[in-house]
Amino acid sequence: MADFNEVISFVKEKHKTNSFVPLHVPVFNGNEKKYLDECIDTTFVSSVGKFVDDFEMMMGEITKTKKTVAVVNGTAGIQIALRLASVKDNDEVLTQALTFVATVNAIAYCNAHPVFLDVDLDTMGLSPKAVEKFLLEFGDLREDGCYNKKSGRKISACVPMHTFGFSVHLDDLIRVCKRWKIPVVEDAAESLGSEYKGKPTGSFGDLGVFSFNGNKIVTSGGGGAIVTNNLALGEKGKYLTTTAKIPHPYEYIHDELGYNYRMPNLNAALACAQLEQLNGFLENKRDLAQEYKSFFSNKGICFRTETPETKANYWLMCVELENKQERDLFLKTTNNENVMTRPIWQLMFRLPMYQDCQKDEQVNALFLEERIVNIPSSVR
Ligand SMILES: *Cc1c(COP(=O)(O)O)cnc(C)c1O
Repeated sequence: MADFNEVISFVKEKHKTNSFVPLHVPVFNGNEKKYLDECIDTTFVSSVGKFVDDFEMMMGEITKTKKTVAVVNGTAGIQIALRLASVKDNDEVLTQALTFVATVNAIAYCNAHPVFLDVDLDTMGLSPKAVEKFLLEFGDLREDGCYNKKSGRKISACVPMHTFGFSVHLDDLIRVCKRWKIPVVEDAAESLGSEYKGKPTGSFGDLGVFSFNGNKIVTSGGGGAIVTNNLALGEKGKYLTTTAKIPHPYEYIHDELGYNYRMPNLNAALACAQLEQLNGFLENKRDLAQEYKSFFSNKGICFRTETPETKANYWLMCVELENKQERDLFLKTTNNENVMTRPIWQLMFRLPMYQDCQKDEQVNALFLEERIVNIPSSVR
């Protein structure tokens, strides 16, 4: 059995504290106060303003996509991205059960049904092989898209999630989804700054969604962004999240059910100041990940690292324990000693709202659910 006391000392030393070590804290070392002051001085604190425009431009550069829509949070972003991908009431959406609940809630907000498919062991994200296997068994490819032979419903989107900033096998996944005419919405909420074969995650699917919640690698307090290379979809996203208002010099014209899902200028100001520091955060995360990796390699505990041809943002770092018993002991020992650690999420089909959803065998998801633990991952 590994000696978890050494882990506790190492984590405290690396985070330069002898007291509580949180999982992840935001860092405000840049222009945050300056930009927030500017909002207040100009009175532009709400849903329009210079920082919203700047934020959308910066996100376009960072993710190498043509259009960004700033939104109120990542969950709302996924909901709208699914609508943009033409998900309708009673459709089905393929996704992973090993994810944060927001991914699946966003599907449910569209009155669509999630179908849970397995993850890969190496990426902890949606497995292209599992998707292909499912479609070979249940897929019915028709002129207007793919249908599920079992339920008769249309499968109108696939939502892979880049767990903790580790990219899924994007080439294979996009290839399978294309073949079966299924649009891809990447839940890139955790993977700002991560890359697959040199390209940013979030830029591979028809749409990608990021979160700027307080616990993410970059925060706007609360916020999200939809990115896409399809300008028409991007424009539609802006319109839908802005109460579906038709531009007019003075009249209020709304021609369909829209949403007020805009990111306020105050939050965009914070996001801009944070995005300016993203590269520094990414470097510091890599340094900490490297130190964890060498430390854990002598301890018989597996520190999870990026797969070949990808670059992880190492937003939340994690270890894989030998079994559930070891994991429980690790969680108990570290939390008792003020080192915050958390198990990976419970699989989504365990939640009462999603227990009746169709799913595959979940072999890898079940394995990871019992073993993966997040460890303190803050950097300066
Ligand atoms: C954080 C997160 C979201 C949602 O983001 P919010 O901005 O908190 O709504 C969605 N999916 C995943 C996987 C996340 O980690």
